[in-house]
Amino acid sequence: MWIVPEHEIADLMTPEVAFDTVEAVFGAMARGEARNFPVVREALGHEDALYGFKGGFDAATPTLGLKAGGYWPHNHARGIINHQSTVFLFDADTGRVSAAVGGNLLTAMRTAAAAAVSIKYLAPDGTRVLGMIGAGHQSAFQMRAAARAGAFEKVIAWNRTPEMLGRLADTAADLGLPFEAVELDRLGAEADVIISITSSFAPILMNAHITGQTHIAAMGTDTRGKQELDTALVARARLFTDEIAQSVGIGEFQHATARDLIAEADIATIGDVVTGTHPGRGNAELTIFDGTGVGLQDLAVASAVVELAKAHGKAIDIEI
Ligand code: NAD
Repeated sequence: MWIVPEHEIADLMTPEVAFDTVEAVFGAMARGEARNFPVVREALGHEDALYGFKGGFDAATPTLGLKAGGYWPHNHARGIINHQSTVFLFDADTGRVSAAVGGNLLTAMRTAAAAAVSIKYLAPDGTRVLGMIGAGHQSAFQMRAAARAGAFEKVIAWNRTPEMLGRLADTAADLGLPFEAVELDRLGAEADVIISITSSFAPILMNAHITGQTHIAAMGTDTRGKQELDTALVARARLFTDEIAQSVGIGEFQHATARDLIAEADIATIGDVVTGTHPGRGNAELTIFDGTGVGLQDLAVASAVVELAKAHGKAIDIEI
């Protein structure tokens, strides 16, 4: 089997490859060639950790495997990031394990790529201003991927603790984009595209905050109980997600669904937009993409990075 260590991935994987890979796998899901398996996510009762598996099978490539990992809230004190994961790939013909790949950086890149795919297909015409809600580990990856997907001229941002916004100011400077910290009402009124990437358990962006044509990529909610958007905002939007079952189960749309404000039938997959089966934004004032994070994204980027690692002599071959 091949091992691709976490520390090699930054030099191998690019936002471009992540974008193309994630866009392709969303299309494969929509064509019925690839499917995600039900997510397992358990509170361990140890170190306050949440641990789980996201797996799937893409028959077209073929790619089979799972990502194992989760969230260890006390890791920062140990000098490592709280999200920890590893992707395992298997030979679809024999079931033999074929690769183990560090999953931490790949998770950030595939999550950012998903939001970027939604921006490519759903952002309003003439998009100029990117609004960011959240300034944690994922947020800089999100901004970098978004900047490739839309012709943004400015970034505005809000975080619950404004002192964290330096990360986004630095990233915007690196991208050559003007940056401004703003309150949520200004962010909602001025941003053409908004990315929310927080670990909030209560709505942050309220219905009244959003005026005018907007696309929102809601990326933070990946667990039951988390929430970033007012359900009234969700109820008036044209809705898209990566995987409908995950969206109503653990994603942002779980809350509006539970309150009967929306039904599963109101939600389209981004894969259907990628393949041209769904027209996308159309004349909608507001679109929301609920990026819940699917196992097939992880498998697709891991599979791509194994090939890159082999080509660059960075993959370790071991007998198992
Ligand atoms: P982080 O711990 O580095 O940052 C957390 C962010 O959330 C910070 O900006 C913090 O200020 C903000 N926040 C926390 N509680 C809040 C609250 N009550 N109200 C408003 N803001 C609050 O986390 P991260 O690694 O950047 O991840 C952010 C979120 O994205 C997490 O919920 C994580 O589980 C989720 N995530 C989703 C996917 C996906 O595929 N959808 C993938 C990776 C991470």
